[in-house]
Amino acid sequence: MVGSGPNGLAAAVALARRGVQVTVVEAADEIGGGTRSSEALVPGLLHDHCSAAHPMAAGSPFLRTLDLERYGLAWLQPGIDCVHPLDDGSAGVLHRSVEDTAAGLGRDDGRWRWLFDRPSSRFDALSQDIMRPLLRVPEHPLTLARFGGPTVLPASLLARQFRTEQARALFGGVAAHAFRPLHYPLTSAIGLGIITAGHRHGWAVAAGGSRSITHALSSLLVDLGGKIEIGTRIDSVSQLPAVDVTMFDLAPSAVADILGDRLPARVARAFRRFRHGPGAFKVDFAIEGGVPWTNPHAHRAGTVHLGGRYAEVAAAERAIHDGRMPERPFVLVGQQYLADPGRSAGNIHPLWTYAHVPNGYTGDATAAIIAQIERFAPGFRDRIIAQSTRSTTQMATYNPNYIGGDILTGSKDIRQLVLGPRTTLSPYRTGVPGMYLCSAATPPGPGAHGMCGANAAEDALAHLHH
Ligand SMILES: Cc1cc2nc3c(=O)[nH]c(=O)nc-3n(C[C@H](O)[C@H](O)[C@H](O)COP(=O)(O)OP(=O)(O)OC[C@H]3O[C@@H](n4cnc5c(N)ncnc54)[C@H](O)[C@@H]3O)c2cc1C
Repeated sequence: MVGSGPNGLAAAVALARRGVQVTVVEAADEIGGGTRSSEALVPGLLHDHCSAAHPMAAGSPFLRTLDLERYGLAWLQPGIDCVHPLDDGSAGVLHRSVEDTAAGLGRDDGRWRWLFDRPSSRFDALSQDIMRPLLRVPEHPLTLARFGGPTVLPASLLARQFRTEQARALFGGVAAHAFRPLHYPLTSAIGLGIITAGHRHGWAVAAGGSRSITHALSSLLVDLGGKIEIGTRIDSVSQLPAVDVTMFDLAPSAVADILGDRLPARVARAFRRFRHGPGAFKVDFAIEGGVPWTNPHAHRAGTVHLGGRYAEVAAAERAIHDGRMPERPFVLVGQQYLADPGRSAGNIHPLWTYAHVPNGYTGDATAAIIAQIERFAPGFRDRIIAQSTRSTTQMATYNPNYIGGDILTGSKDIRQLVLGPRTTLSPYRTGVPGMYLCSAATPPGPGAHGMCGANAAEDALAHLHH
């Protein structure tokens, strides 16, 4: 296994529990990829380096089979999952419960229920289909059809069905997790998926940081006899040992570089043509006394989306897609400490933020992030004790999968979202017997749910069986 992100570790566990001897080789000095956390900024203050909120991991069909609680993984729920404040002091408020959310959305009460009531109550069955490659016979066709209808719509069209600005902005902010212009087809899919998962499992945070996901998976792997080597970057096929199965938790272009001529020409072409989306510019803050939000719900929210009205968020997403840095980018704020108070040091709290920026953006988005927070929490600036930034370039150095700061490991356009890097029924196969791609570049895509790894491992196990 090359790479130890959540998909790499999930694939390693899936193989090891079927008796395969697994060694994971990781380039960084610490395992975990997008599920690492540390106290680097201020002693005693715990920051997630990448992933923070985990509706998809908490609901992951594979992770849920592993009993990771035995290895210390505990999900904690914020009082409110997500708040999207507006300039007039109001907000779209996403509760775990569909009823509570709908009740807060006034005239959009019925529409919210219609969209999310049934899919969220059937989410665990639904996830058996949507967390696997879509080009296969579904296990729950009716549930999938009911959920799938609206997902093909552009988010802009679905947002227009809402009558209140609060519901529109709330939905649009979550849809913006796709890093795509919101008038493009299928941009509703990621928003609907995250909201539906959240209504079932909550926007949970991992007690002790997202690194607890890494710790639980790696401890289980070691118990199953697996080995892990850190500080070894694989750049060439000559570094790979002769083994029955090799899995790559990497961006497709990295696999093309490593495998070189071994890769069939058509696969190499597809892997090199794989497109990357916009980038993320991250700033971690240490904040004295928390954020002075104007909207009262935001004080209880695990995640706060900043970008104002739906139209403003849509314009900002369009700009970064076109390579332009908007004056007011879409900003995500994580207040994981509210659910997990052990991450704070007394009255000093860790605040996790990032802005959506163009791929490879070379400027500094810190001021724009602070301005967006200040807009909805006047006085925020005066509470900053310390801050550290990670630009798009630093993001790619921190993890080579995040090319140009693309934290989703690939643009989620229709083809890449549905099929992965190439048009095939076996999105995990590289065309080299026994070699598989298992990163977030493959279906079902980004998130710390480990499903790309688990699905790829199933393919690899079938190969081993033959
Ligand atoms: C700022 C940020 C915020 C995010 N927020 C969320 C969130 O709130 N919720 C959520 O679910 N997801 C979130 N994500 C996305 C999530 O972290 C990723 O989708 C997920 O980590 C992908 O897992 P993976 O295993 O495919 O790859 P990664 O986690 O990227 O892991 C790949 C691993 O491979 C290693 N590697 C790369 N190249 C080589 C090489 N040549 N040789 C050896 N090792 C190599 C890397 O060092 C890394 O450890 C966020 C990501 C970022 C960066």
